[in-house]
Amino acid sequence: MNILVINCGSSSLKFQLINAQSEELIAKGLCERIGIEGSQMTYTPTGKDKIQVTKPMPDHTAAVKLVLDALTNKDTGVVESLDEIGAVGHRIVHGGENFARSTLITDEVIRAIEACNDLAPLHNPANLIGINSCRELMPHTPMVAVFDTAFHQTMPEEAYLYGIPYHYYADYKVRRYGFHGTSHSYVSHQAAQMLGRNYEELKMIICHLGNGASVSAIKNGKCVDTSMGLTPLEGLIMGTRSGDMDPAIVEFLCNKEGKSVHDILNVLNKESGVLGLSEGYSSDFRDLEKGYHAGEEPSIRAMKSFAYRVVKYIGAYAAAMNGVDVICFTAGIGENNPFIRKMICSYLGYLGISMNEEENAKRGEEAVISNPESAVKVFVIPTNEELAIARETLELVK
Ligand code: ADP
Repeated sequence: MNILVINCGSSSLKFQLINAQSEELIAKGLCERIGIEGSQMTYTPTGKDKIQVTKPMPDHTAAVKLVLDALTNKDTGVVESLDEIGAVGHRIVHGGENFARSTLITDEVIRAIEACNDLAPLHNPANLIGINSCRELMPHTPMVAVFDTAFHQTMPEEAYLYGIPYHYYADYKVRRYGFHGTSHSYVSHQAAQMLGRNYEELKMIICHLGNGASVSAIKNGKCVDTSMGLTPLEGLIMGTRSGDMDPAIVEFLCNKEGKSVHDILNVLNKESGVLGLSEGYSSDFRDLEKGYHAGEEPSIRAMKSFAYRVVKYIGAYAAAMNGVDVICFTAGIGENNPFIRKMICSYLGYLGISMNEEENAKRGEEAVISNPESAVKVFVIPTNEELAIARETLELVK
């Protein structure tokens, strides 16, 4: 069965068509600037050249139409007709406490996703628009919602509650939810396979280090803690997000700069992290690494702070699980940046970790980067959120 995986943002739509049995990627692409002048789609059928289509996409339905046309038309198509798309898997950012697993989309499910909109006001409405556009154009095709938050719903109360009056949780569901769940789940399952051990018997720490970054602790087959919170702003220092900080800083900066809470949160989401620490130099670790080796203080400061925060989370989660068997690096930085991996692992001697420099030089592929005698295994595992969504979708529609 071919499964179309859709990841809809407020002005973008990423898609992949995957053969769910063979797990082959058939085609992929991206629509950008939806609803904005200059909309364009890039589309790549596997094994063929990338195609760019510049065409107005006034809304997401127009974008989905363009995608379906590219997949089925005579010249660029990869399937004869829409009948060859057996199901659609939608990535949904926030499922709140309503969804601890993926689910077939019904009107009731759509209402329950809508009920989570105020927890992710930028993402969930866009995800819902993607669902509605697909339902309009493919009314008989089953659709599945796969949530970024679902994997983390197994966290115990002591991990997900904040130290604030309990009624804020009871009344408004203010708690830690965590994100990147599809990636943490996919990578941890791969790690168990690489180890040849039972998923349910392992203690794992997964470091998803991309532009958005989070760490999770998985014990006996369940996520027991994760670094992102009510929103993706908490936890690690990220590309442009601050991660953990004293909440009193918000009021302090509002007073100093004469700005609103909204303005400061914008700074914390978009102008902070390694971008902010490097004085606006870059949020991209390729640039920062160049700066670091050239001895530039802003890049050195940003990279050291980033690595240090990851190290603190690894320590916290090793303590929370009373040990750790395997630590995995994934996502853009985790998969492709040996220098950051080395910086992080250089702190972890206390866990009995020793790193294999030669293996650590690998980029973008599965690798065991710890030495055989290392007490804790360290893996690099490329994440594949789209494949994970296709697998979940197949499971529910087959
Ligand atoms: P997002 O959270 O936007 O999905 P990514 O997982 O793509 O982010 O991570 C982006 C980061 O990964 C950037 O800092 C970039 O430096 C790094 N990165 C991505 N691909 C590569 C690569 N091929 N080589 C080196 N670094 C890379």
